[in-house]
Amino acid sequence: MTETVQPAQQTPHPTTEYDAIIIGSGIGGLVTATQLAAKGAKVLVLERYLIPGGSAGYFEREGYRFDVGASMIFGFGTEGTTNLLTRALDAVDMQIDTIPDSCQIHYHLPQNLDLKVHRDYEQFIQELSQKFPHEKTGIRKFYDECWTVFNCLNSMELLSLEEPRYLLRVFFEHPLSCLGLVKYLPLNVGDIARRYIQDPELLKFIDMECYCWSVVPAEKTPMINAGMVFSDRHYGGINYPRGGVGQIAQKLVEGLERYGSAIQYKARVKEIITEKGKAVGVRLANGTEYRAKRVISNATHWDTFDKLLPTATPKKEQRWEQRYEKSPSFLSLHLGVKADLLPVGTECHHILLEDWEKMEDPEGTIFVSIPTLLDPNLAPEGHHIIHTFTPSWMSDWQGLSSQAYQDKKNAAAQRLITRLEGVFPGLQEAVVYQEVGTARTHRRFLGREDGTYGPIPQRKLWGLLGMPFNRTSVPGLYCVGDSTFPGQGLNAVAFSGFACAHRVAVDLGVS
Ligand SMILES: Cc1cc2nc3c(=O)[nH]c(=O)nc-3n(C[C@H](O)[C@H](O)[C@H](O)COP(=O)(O)OP(=O)(O)OC[C@H]3O[C@@H](n4cnc5c(N)ncnc54)[C@H](O)[C@@H]3O)c2cc1C
Repeated sequence: MTETVQPAQQTPHPTTEYDAIIIGSGIGGLVTATQLAAKGAKVLVLERYLIPGGSAGYFEREGYRFDVGASMIFGFGTEGTTNLLTRALDAVDMQIDTIPDSCQIHYHLPQNLDLKVHRDYEQFIQELSQKFPHEKTGIRKFYDECWTVFNCLNSMELLSLEEPRYLLRVFFEHPLSCLGLVKYLPLNVGDIARRYIQDPELLKFIDMECYCWSVVPAEKTPMINAGMVFSDRHYGGINYPRGGVGQIAQKLVEGLERYGSAIQYKARVKEIITEKGKAVGVRLANGTEYRAKRVISNATHWDTFDKLLPTATPKKEQRWEQRYEKSPSFLSLHLGVKADLLPVGTECHHILLEDWEKMEDPEGTIFVSIPTLLDPNLAPEGHHIIHTFTPSWMSDWQGLSSQAYQDKKNAAAQRLITRLEGVFPGLQEAVVYQEVGTARTHRRFLGREDGTYGPIPQRKLWGLLGMPFNRTSVPGLYCVGDSTFPGQGLNAVAFSGFACAHRVAVDLGVS
């Protein structure tokens, strides 16, 4: 770490040679940037949009401040090592006031399976065990095993698994935790759940517990990620940033600039410049070129290797594309509703599914977040925000005239509202503002190929072993974000940011 904080250096210049250029200011990109800046590196972040954050950004309409995507935020705990958002902000002297949520999710599932994942672990285990009394022992054993994974992770500093000296150090400091993690690295949740649980409906519930963040069922969801999610929700808990999720990126940018590095908006990288096969800089859509010792892409794998590189997709990256595919995008509804719609005690996050067979279908599972239950200042007085979304493929939204696109959006929105009436009776009447986003919207505003939520395994893989780390097959080029280990979610991409910055810093000699 450098001792002195340098003055803000906010005007990027093509003649400057940066230590690192980062393509994109998603949370993965910004954590990498701030970690490097805090170590004294000169970093330039190039963001194609008007504000930072990507899928963790926000937009404002008629007095509402809507989160673009993420609203259920992990990583803001105060203890352990897995509180990566708290740590990332701390590294550049930033803090965010957060509001604790007493419940992660209120599930509304088939066969009237209605239950809540309470922040309190015992309360959750008891509630689930009451629904499946014959599986009481299995439930406890399964979730306790997730804690084993979490405790291993939470005992060590989370940095680059591509850095041998770090690996050696953590192994000597925490040999048992390391061996524990090595054991779970190739395993998926389904492998463990079936050891303890037989009831088919309970196994479907475990599928949903995974699907709602990994967008694949338990048998394809890596156990390491589940260990984080299923335990941290009771440990650090779910905490909502006051002022909206957009605050996280804004504060990281503030810290970045304070440490003498820069971000440029409306700067769409069109090409990664290579010389003798090595990444040496980038060319923007307006023709401006910037050069750096290292180039880091926070764009998705497909955008990076199939679009930004001037050469054909390297063989190693092609092989990855045979193992992982793009998950669907989402149909998103950002609603402003009259506050009296929601009875006292309504939870912030809900999941609705009426038929287990449809869990993975387009418009199958419905996700709901009502962040104004935690921070009322995000909506005009007397109103709430309901952000609801459901999987939806790009192919369903292409080749439509503008009128047909509009009609199709309205019809899809209506279908969601009708189904949500089952959970929030009177919703239709309470809506005073409505904005509909499709896969096309996600592609356009988030810069993600087909608006995808991220990579998912094409078939059952060996846990997390197939996910790439940050180095790529192109010398000088690194990737960060949800196309890299350990995958989707804000705390996960923050992990990838810590790892990427660590590896790059060692390569630059600034660690
Ligand atoms: C609807 C929805 C709900 C979600 N809910 C949650 C949740 O509740 N909790 C949770 O933890 N996670 C949630 N997620 C997932 C989470 O938001 C993402 O996994 C995470 O934000 C991805 O971060 P990232 O750094 O990988 O990249 P992104 O957020 O995709 O950011 C990449 C950035 O790069 C920029 N960019 C791309 N290409 C270029 C280019 N060529 N030139 C310049 N800039 C470029 C983009 O504009 C963007 O700003 C949700 C996602 C969605 C879509």
